[in-house]
Amino acid sequence: MELRVLGCSGGEAEGYRLTGLLVNGVLAIDAGSLTQALSVREQAGIRQIFISHSHLDHICSLPFFTKNIYGHNDVPVEIRALPETLAALRRHLFNDELWPDFSVIPSPDNPIIRYSEIKPGKTYELVGLRITPIPVNHLVPCVGYLVEDDHSAFIFSSDTAETDQVYRVANKTKNLKLFITEASFPNEQAWLAEASKHLTPEKLGRELKKLKPNVQVGIYHLTPGDRPVMLPQIAAINDPRITMLDQDARFSW
Ligand SMILES: [Zn+2]
Ligand SMILES: [Zn+2]
Repeated sequence: MELRVLGCSGGEAEGYRLTGLLVNGVLAIDAGSLTQALSVREQAGIRQIFISHSHLDHICSLPFFTKNIYGHNDVPVEIRALPETLAALRRHLFNDELWPDFSVIPSPDNPIIRYSEIKPGKTYELVGLRITPIPVNHLVPCVGYLVEDDHSAFIFSSDTAETDQVYRVANKTKNLKLFITEASFPNEQAWLAEASKHLTPEKLGRELKKLKPNVQVGIYHLTPGDRPVMLPQIAAINDPRITMLDQDARFSW
């Protein structure tokens, strides 16, 4: 399995792209940076996009992506997400006001994108991978994802405050190579993390006690301007499994 980190930042600034992962060149998880990180040719190679939740930093490249692949792709790209997330995309984004409705363009029978509802806990076997959504604890309905092939697996928790299910899944996953989870605000902003259902480094440290395997943990979703304060706080968790997830990192298992 080839995993490429297109973006892993909780805010956008020069050098910091929003959340997106690409697996084997064909499966995207979240769409915060498809068009910033990938050539048009690479974008046209994507067949499936699983979205974790409706927040803008996880979907904002979708409109420009649809325009880029128009005429470069003969089968619709499947956009898979919870029903609530798809409803938000229809209502607020591809609504013929902010952007054309590419689920009926050029024709309803052969559109650029096709929406597909996912169910938490169900495993989707697609493009040679197994993808399982796992419910997490965020302001809007949100899922993390377990992605597996026959040799390796990784988990992406997406945005979440304190949660259990994703750790239960991690603890029983064979061949787990990487566990990606978040830290969004410095310890001093615990109130903000609580209000927006995110983690501080301190909260992250408590969460990681639930993770049993000795597996690499990749931290993502820091706010760019808070990195200088947060990096020492993350180091202070003192868990040797912790690494910072790097933009443009590539994993091959
Ligand atoms: Zn969010
Ligand atoms: Zn986010």
